[in-house]
Amino acid sequence: MVECAVCGNESDGDTVACPFCGADLQSIGAEKRTPQVVQRTVNLKQGRPLVDTAVKRMTNELAQATAQNVKVLILIHGYGSSGKGGKIREECRKILEDWLRQRRLRQVIPGEQFQRRHGPGKALLRRFPHVETECPTVFNNPGVTVAVL
Ligand SMILES: [Zn+2]
Repeated sequence: MVECAVCGNESDGDTVACPFCGADLQSIGAEKRTPQVVQRTVNLKQGRPLVDTAVKRMTNELAQATAQNVKVLILIHGYGSSGKGGKIREECRKILEDWLRQRRLRQVIPGEQFQRRHGPGKALLRRFPHVETECPTVFNNPGVTVAVL
């Protein structure tokens, strides 16, 4: 068994690429590079920003994550039926949908649809089990959106 340095899943040593996250198992082993950051949580509400600031922060984080080969970005935008919290959520999700359409993202999972035992949440946890430790509050959480890069 070989443990993938990227996602931590085990697979048999015959495979060139990790069947879970697609990482190149051979080059990772050869280079012995430091473990890559696979998932990252970004709190867009921190500092109670204006909507524009929060949205800008998110697009910066998405661009940075893409450049750094981060696979899963957990975005905490909060929620609310009205007011600033709800507006940040709305604007951020609009942009995530655009990025998804443009194929700059593989998948967008709204937190309220993120379940441990079924659906896209379960599938994602199978590929990236550390997402749960990274963000234990991701489940059924309308204040969070998970972007898969
Ligand atoms: Zn892997």
